[in-house]
Amino acid sequence: MHEYSITSQIVENVLQEAKKHDAKKIFEVHLVIGKFTFLGIEQVRFSYEILVKGTIMEGSKLYIEERNGVVKCAGCGYEGTIMYEDDPKYHILFPTLYCPKCRSKVDLIEGKECIIKSVKLMRDK
Ligand SMILES: [Zn+2]
Repeated sequence: MHEYSITSQIVENVLQEAKKHDAKKIFEVHLVIGKFTFLGIEQVRFSYEILVKGTIMEGSKLYIEERNGVVKCAGCGYEGTIMYEDDPKYHILFPTLYCPKCRSKVDLIEGKECIIKSVKLMRDK
């Protein structure tokens, strides 16, 4: 499970940081997850609950902020949200990596990140 290993890294990083700060308890963890990580938010939450058991993170709240993809066009300089096209064959929206202005190929500059934005902890005096 992809989400499980990613979440396990996140929990490990938070615990390491907590140790550096002599934290006794973690109350909140805020994450930023780009849509192009293709991580299932529910699976991340589920994995989190399992992983924090028995640690100082147990019982903490997990906040997840989803970030949309941002693309940049080398052709015309367009920078903005990614375009979604409706495929009439499947009736699903899928992202296209083409510039909405000039149809050149664009680069994804945001949306693949998975960041620990902030952590609320309590220090051991
Ligand atoms: Zn363009």
